[in-house]
This record gives sequence, structure tokens and C-alpha cells, in this order.
Amino acid sequence: MSRNILLLGAPGAGKGTQSKKLAEEYDLEHVTTGDALRANKDMETEYGTPRSFMEAGELVPDPVVNEIVKVALEEADGYVLDGYPRNLDQAEYLDEITDLDAVIYLDVSEEELVDRLTGRRVCDECGANYHVEFQPPEEEGVCDECGGELIQREDDTEETVRERLQVFYDNTEPVIEHFREQGDLIEIDGEATPDEVFNRITDAIEN
Ligand code: AMP
Repeated sequence: MSRNILLLGAPGAGKGTQSKKLAEEYDLEHVTTGDALRANKDMETEYGTPRSFMEAGELVPDPVVNEIVKVALEEADGYVLDGYPRNLDQAEYLDEITDLDAVIYLDVSEEELVDRLTGRRVCDECGANYHVEFQPPEEEGVCDECGGELIQREDDTEETVRERLQVFYDNTEPVIEHFREQGDLIEIDGEATPDEVFNRITDAIEN
């Protein structure tokens, strides 16, 4: 059965981790604007490149992101969408181009988000995620999966994390409220181990 799933949550709520697992579990395409933009940071657009917005923790202009999502969803036979929509205009656009089967919100406190993001390390080669304290690799700085180098994302520094969270509270919380008002929102407590959160999500989707 093909499903269209939307995963909402603040930066650091676990959207990336959970989306990957969901895409595997249900054989869906994982569509994530953050990864798509990181792979195209220096793409020339009429607004400049995505890089400048991303390094400042700001949103990349809607037309750029909308186009990425439109193309990706057209190509997918069932998807997990993560990192989009991040404001009400994007939510309206999404509404025009697709139908959603499930909208899930991962709820995590601000204190926990800051701890998760500032301690996050990612593999430069395969993109695997670690945390210096909560999920350290076997050998410091080296990816368990592929041996690649672990780096800190440029936007995971404390200052940029604060900016990204502010952008989330100003722009994306209204999106969550919008789905809540529609009565479509499945709210999941995201403060648990990745496996536990995954079980909560699949239980909610299937029941
Ligand atoms: P993420 O990996 O989802 O935390 O996204 C990293 C950065 O990419 C964000 O801080 C934004 O600069 C940009 N970005 C990702 N998704 C969007 C979106 N839907 N709208 C605008 N900018 C986005």
C-alpha cells in the first residue's frame, strides 16, 4: 500500500532518523528538503544560493524549496516528507500538489532540542548521525558504518541552533497549529529512544 506521510517537528526532533526508518519499513521515498538543499548549496537561483540562508539558519525562499518538493513528490509512489512545509505558504502549496494520508508531529522540548543539535555529528561520507554524548561512535570522529569522518554541520553551532529554533517557533509552529485545527495531526512524544519513538509512530499510523 502506498502511503503519503508528513513528519513535522523542530530541528533536532528526530525527523531525519524517523523518516529514514519509515521509508524503509513501508518502502516509501524519503523526501527531505534539508538534504536536497545541502546537496545543492551553491545552486544559482534568482535569490542567490541556498548556502547563505542555510548558514544563517534562515529559510531558503519558498519558490526554490517548493520546486524541489514538487519534482520529488511527482516522482514518488508513496513518500515520507521531512523538513517541509516550514511556513503557512509552503503548507498551502503542499495542499495544492498532493494528498496526505498521515501528518505526524514529533514533540520535543526546547532544552532537549538544543542538547541534541549542538552535540550532533554527521558522517561526511554516508550521512549517518551520531551524538557526542547520547550516541557516540566506537572511535571518536570516525563513522561506525563506513569509516568516514564525523563532522559538525555548519548550522549546528549554538548560535545558529538558537536562530533555527526561533525560525521554527515563528514560522513552523503555525503550520502545526494549522494541521491540529484540521483535526489531522497525530502528536507523538519525541523524547524517547529512536526505537521507542519509531514504535509510537508506526502504532499511530496503523491504528
Ligand atoms: P534541516 O536539515 O531540515 O534542518 O534544514 C537545514 C536548512 O535548510 C534550514 O535551516 C533551512 O535553511 C533550509 N531548509 C530546509 N527545508 C526548508 C524549507 N522547507 N523551507 C526553507 N528552507 C529550508
